[in-house]
Amino acid sequence: MPLLLGCVADDFTGATDLASMLVKNGMSCVQVIGVPPAAERHGEAPSLPEADAVVVALKSRTAPVAQAVAESLAAAEALLAGGARQLFFKYCSTFDSTDEGNIGPVADALLKRLGAGFAIACPAFPANGRSIYQGHLFVGARLLSESGMENHPLTPMKDPDLVRVLSRQTDGGVGLVPFAVVEQGAAAIRREFTRLAEAGRRHAIVDAVSDAHLHAIGEACAGHALVTGGSGVAMGLPENFRRAGLLPPRSDAATLPRAEGLCAVVAGSCSRATLGQIGFARDHLPVLELDALAMPDAGALAAQALDWVEGRLDASRPVVVAASAPPEKVAALQAKLGREAAGVLVEDALAAVAEGLVARGVRRLVVAGGETSGAVVQRLGVTSLRIGAEIDPGVPWTFAPLPPAAGVPQAGIHLALKSGNFGARDFFLKAFQHV
Ligand code: ADP
Repeated sequence: MPLLLGCVADDFTGATDLASMLVKNGMSCVQVIGVPPAAERHGEAPSLPEADAVVVALKSRTAPVAQAVAESLAAAEALLAGGARQLFFKYCSTFDSTDEGNIGPVADALLKRLGAGFAIACPAFPANGRSIYQGHLFVGARLLSESGMENHPLTPMKDPDLVRVLSRQTDGGVGLVPFAVVEQGAAAIRREFTRLAEAGRRHAIVDAVSDAHLHAIGEACAGHALVTGGSGVAMGLPENFRRAGLLPPRSDAATLPRAEGLCAVVAGSCSRATLGQIGFARDHLPVLELDALAMPDAGALAAQALDWVEGRLDASRPVVVAASAPPEKVAALQAKLGREAAGVLVEDALAAVAEGLVARGVRRLVVAGGETSGAVVQRLGVTSLRIGAEIDPGVPWTFAPLPPAAGVPQAGIHLALKSGNFGARDFFLKAFQHV
């Protein structure tokens, strides 16, 4: 299966979101965590997993510009060496960035590497309330700059005009493909791309307020070396490869190896949705709630959890181990240890719990929380995730090969990595009815 689409994502959950979108639209897809290692060695072809699309997940959204550029280029190099015919640079649908970058500088560097002169920038995702009209990004009914994003701690978005925002991040010209053109479909959009490129524009913000717009934009990007945007605009790309005869119709794009083994949930998210899911689980599943405030010791917390799971693990329903707590308890632990140390303590404890669960035969694991997922994946030595079917919007089951344990080969583990606020109230039950 030759690699068709090579993607670079500027954060972990964004990578999963994109990968899931591609799978839903008929491409098999693997998410790789960080730049594939062999690509860093000069002259050696990296060994990418077999898939129609590979998404390299970086943590470059708020990294220093030079680092974001270097890592994105290294990822691109690996993808191109793997045969990718088109690159996709994925960022957040709220265009999270600052005047320094990193969207403009990374897009510029990728264009230069590809010897290309023009790429679109389209973070629109109407199904999730992100639409672009006259270059202005809306979140629901509000302009980006009045959506709450103006107060983001790392990337405050105070200007909703994306042409202006991107212009501050690049020395290339930024144009706009307006609604009136997008509405006319792929051929008109393509003509406008040509016109803008000939007028010396390097980037074009593209209006989109519906999935039909995103499909038309995707079609118009068929010949582009680089496409940049949110996961929304990626919905139109698989069809280009089918049309070109490169991608067979795949009814099995979301197929994962058979799920076997014991089930568990590890929760470190304190977001409202996760707290609700834990509340629901209390009535239906064995739940252990760790009290990090009473016992601020990662090793002791993990030991308590692993003692508790003894005799409770099951292959038909999960046990739930949660460190999650309501805001006043989180604030109390943070006051005691400091914000950062409190987070690290709980992440360390839960990563050790996950490791212990896998050692006890757990092979179907839901992790609640973005940072928590990062800590767990790192502890388990997971380097890639094959993307399966969605459980709830934005949260697919995935399959990760496991590194050999004590020299013994292990097959792998089914993981569902849930961003804190995602998922319905019965997510922890529902997830295991899906796999
Ligand atoms: P989300 O996706 O909801 O943002 P994350 O896992 O990214 O969830 O972030 C939650 C953070 O809160 C993690 O760093 C986690 O270790 C920390 N945390 C979890 N439980 C507690 C607690 N009881 N007290 C303090 N911090 C906690």
